Amino acid sequence: MNHPSSYKGRRVVVLGLARSGVSVAKVFHQFGAEVVVNDQKDRELCPEADELTALGISVLCGYHPEDLITEETALLIKNPGIPYTSPPVQRAEELGVEVITEVEAAYWLSPAPIIGITGSNGKTTTTTWIGEILSSAGLKPIVAGNIGRPLCEAAMEATPDEWLIAELSSFQLKGTAQFRPRIALLLNIAETHLDYHGDMDDYVNSKVKLFDNQTEDDVAIINWDDPECRALSKLLVAQQFPFSLYEKLEAGLYIDPPYVRDSNGALAADSEQAGVERQIVFRQIGGEETTILPVAELGIPGVHNAANALAAIAASISAGVALDALIEPLRGFDAVEHRLEFVRELNGVQFYNDSKATNAVATTTAVQSFTAPIVLIAGGLDRGSDYMELEPLFREKLKALVAFGQTGEKLAHVAKLAGLTKVEIVEPSEDAESVLQQAVKQASAMAESGDIVLLSPACASWDMFASYEQRGRIFKDSAHTL
Ligand code: ADP
Repeated sequence: MNHPSSYKGRRVVVLGLARSGVSVAKVFHQFGAEVVVNDQKDRELCPEADELTALGISVLCGYHPEDLITEETALLIKNPGIPYTSPPVQRAEELGVEVITEVEAAYWLSPAPIIGITGSNGKTTTTTWIGEILSSAGLKPIVAGNIGRPLCEAAMEATPDEWLIAELSSFQLKGTAQFRPRIALLLNIAETHLDYHGDMDDYVNSKVKLFDNQTEDDVAIINWDDPECRALSKLLVAQQFPFSLYEKLEAGLYIDPPYVRDSNGALAADSEQAGVERQIVFRQIGGEETTILPVAELGIPGVHNAANALAAIAASISAGVALDALIEPLRGFDAVEHRLEFVRELNGVQFYNDSKATNAVATTTAVQSFTAPIVLIAGGLDRGSDYMELEPLFREKLKALVAFGQTGEKLAHVAKLAGLTKVEIVEPSEDAESVLQQAVKQASAMAESGDIVLLSPACASWDMFASYEQRGRIFKDSAHTL
């Protein structure tokens, strides 16, 4: 296997600063490579550069130099968000220079086995949950990757008796080559990030790279309910560990009695029947069924979180956690911030922050988690979708919609087609905070005791906010100051 030490004395270019760029640049510098870091942003927008220049690493900001990638360049490590059409990446490909992302280098480095988690939705929740289960069972997890700290930094500190639990995006996985997780987990595949990947095949292929280097000694956990994941199972070499909300499996993890799907393959509206106690059940190949705990006792609500729980349990069992050690961390788990996070109750109305829902699938699952009437606050960056797929959901579950941001008009149009009479659009303004405050006020005015006010935007935040975190915090502050 490759290792950063094999680049000693050779030119390694790191494209894109950010935390992962800094971390990987330091690693290669430490192993003696001639590291050059380049970022298109102006120097004053790159405060991270100071730390690297102090170490003697060369940092070039503000442009991509023509001669950045030379015949002598041994490796290009690019930030996952930089597209493959970027000139330095294209130049590297022309010259046959190896192009990777930081997570590949982390794999080269890590003495600890890796649990790699990817999927379109649910990654952070599941990754965090696995971390909590392993730690409560006395195993030693280090949670990193697309969440918290860069994987390289965690890999440098890891020891062989720890587990590196890595949340991985399709962008990160696209730049892997030898990356081999001991336990690989694919949660689901929804249509998202097509602006980066160009088409669905490229997106799916990037996710699937998670399994590429696995052997029969490794475990592949797949969502049996997702047609793309299920099709993939025919190609896998690793031992398979499927999970399902909708089917009792011969071997794997499932719900008993299973949830019910409608003709579109989505969760049936009456799936959450009162009085039905659903259990999480584990069955090994040829083995007995073992009941783990009732779904209703999971620490977080929503059927999508039952799927995340199944995935987290499968990974934990594969890492050696005993079945009875699962129960406490499954019960005690709290929502991760901005993921269906309870904010407050005011006059019988409950406010939930789901700012992390940056696509229509995530918003659908959030809305389906409630049986009470919902006043939805949604809208954000326009990536070209018309959101028509949300019409049945809006028709069936929403009491009112308050739309804002670039997609505000489109979402309001869908809500009107769905027959909603209470649809409001917040006037755009330079002052993003006041727009969201206004949306919260309008939503609150339309809600009555027993209703839910839910921020679940179905869009990225970058048309108005620096991040979904900033959007979520403004929502929470606005709800608290009503
Ligand atoms: P990710 O890290 O993949 O973005 P998160 O755990 O942060 O996922 O959850 C983001 C949002 O996606 C949540 O707020 C919820 O609305 C939705 N979601 C979470 N888990 C699932 C799932 N398994 N299937 C579909 N949607 C989900």
